Amino acid sequence: MAKEKKIATPWNVSRRATAKVKNPLPAPTKCNCCASEAIEIVENSKVYNGRSYGKYPWIYLCGDCGAYVGLHPFTNIPLGTLANEEMRKARKDSKFYFTPLYASGDMDRNEAYERLAKKLGISKSECHFAWFDVEMCAKAADACIQIANEVSKRPKVEESKPKGIMAQAFQKLGLA
Ligand SMILES: [Zn+2]
Repeated sequence: MAKEKKIATPWNVSRRATAKVKNPLPAPTKCNCCASEAIEIVENSKVYNGRSYGKYPWIYLCGDCGAYVGLHPFTNIPLGTLANEEMRKARKDSKFYFTPLYASGDMDRNEAYERLAKKLGISKSECHFAWFDVEMCAKAADACIQIANEVSKRPKVEESKPKGIMAQAFQKLGLA
């Protein structure tokens, strides 16, 4: 007997998908960027020029500053903390330093996260770029450069100095 399928939405979540999310963050009720409480779930077309993206196009959006974050598919669990433009850029930039650690084949992705978490002094379960603010992104990028340089097979990456917002964050932390 075929069961009737219902389409999961943030208001009618898949219990199975929800149970699979490790270390779920609570739904945001206050914006971590501007402290506003005007957080709502909307379709991502609201921030992507009117077009929806992905199979589960929902986001938590701050109605005041416009910071947002996606949801784990078929749940109402946020992927991370809300991010404004600066944070989105920093997260993307710091991942640029992280991805080569495992893409190079020197270690797998799991080990790369383990090493990064250790350098940052946090547990691996908290080590998600989507959870990081700009300062943490800068620390993560710096840690990734250190890890890359520790792996003897790899060439030194001193010449790939951070630019833009990441460079400013580095400077602020005294890492540059
Ligand atoms: Zn906000």
